Amino acid sequence: MDTHKLIIIGSGPAGLTAGIYAARAGLKPLVLAGLTFGGQLMLTTEVENFPGFPDGIQGPDLMQSFIKQAERFGAQLVYEDVVKVDFSQKPFTLSTGDHEYKAESVIITTGASTMWLGIPSEEKFRGKGVSSCATCDGFFFKDKEIIVVGGGDSAMEEATYLTKFAKKVTILNRSENFRASRIMFERAQSNSKIEFQTNKVVEEFLGDNRLSAVKVRDTVSGEIKELPIEGAFIAIGHKPNTEMLKGQVELDEKSYIVPHEQTRTNIPGVFVAGDVRDFRYRQAVTAAGMGCMAAIDAEKYLEMDHG
Ligand code: NDP
Repeated sequence: MDTHKLIIIGSGPAGLTAGIYAARAGLKPLVLAGLTFGGQLMLTTEVENFPGFPDGIQGPDLMQSFIKQAERFGAQLVYEDVVKVDFSQKPFTLSTGDHEYKAESVIITTGASTMWLGIPSEEKFRGKGVSSCATCDGFFFKDKEIIVVGGGDSAMEEATYLTKFAKKVTILNRSENFRASRIMFERAQSNSKIEFQTNKVVEEFLGDNRLSAVKVRDTVSGEIKELPIEGAFIAIGHKPNTEMLKGQVELDEKSYIVPHEQTRTNIPGVFVAGDVRDFRYRQAVTAAGMGCMAAIDAEKYLEMDHG
């Protein structure tokens, strides 16, 4: 079996930018792109904040351009999911259901998945009023009444950000206790556009073509009420895609990969970029930037003859 100089796991903005840089550096990277390739932007519609596209671009179109650009320089994409890795000895081994691959170095860019409530109507209105990204979609809710679901820092941050656009933001938390840090909670509390409702869970999203209301249940009284709103932001956390990396690379208590120097992990030769290590910025452009850094770091590592 051939040993690749570099294998990139993942094909969102981080993985494909790493692919472009590594390919241009002559490393002939293999990109294990996954069955549902392209990352979270494949689930969005219009991306208005990616630099270089003053008129915006559809998320899937942007990712197709990333792929085309990576392939142009010789990156090879394989549409398989990695299910197992072995970083305990070199060359590293990566297994998909069908094949096994060997590599001298690896860049992990498996990203994170938004946690959704999981009710059927949520799926129906996604992109039609239901969103999980205030930075991406907040702009579309100028002067509207909206809700944010969640009680952690993400919910506080999203709600505070959304007050730039919305007329009123109601935060719905499923208990009386907020997980958010004090500073972010107080910032949201002091914002006159934000209202808090505790012990509330969303039962159903309502509307014809677009979201127009939400059915909310009080977990204490059992009472069900309908709130007329035009937007709902789900901010109940993200889950890094690190299931198959457990025990192989250092993860923090929330299963994000712990970055060491720049894009290194605790395993020499294994690098990391994008949302799988970053719960703070979570932007395509920051992920792409990190992907570039990881490719440069991997190239330097291989040059030093560590492979
Ligand atoms: P958290 O896990 O901290 O909070 C999740 C929130 O969502 C909790 O209030 C939780 O309620 C609620 N929740 C979870 N599942 C459901 C559900 N099915 N239905 C309704 N509510 C639900 O996630 P965050 O994304 O807020 O934060 C993750 C990490 O990122 C934290 O460490 C945070 O500090 C950090 N962060 C930092 C920021 C910053 O510094 N600028 C910004 C954003 C995040 P319950 O408490 O009942 O479980």
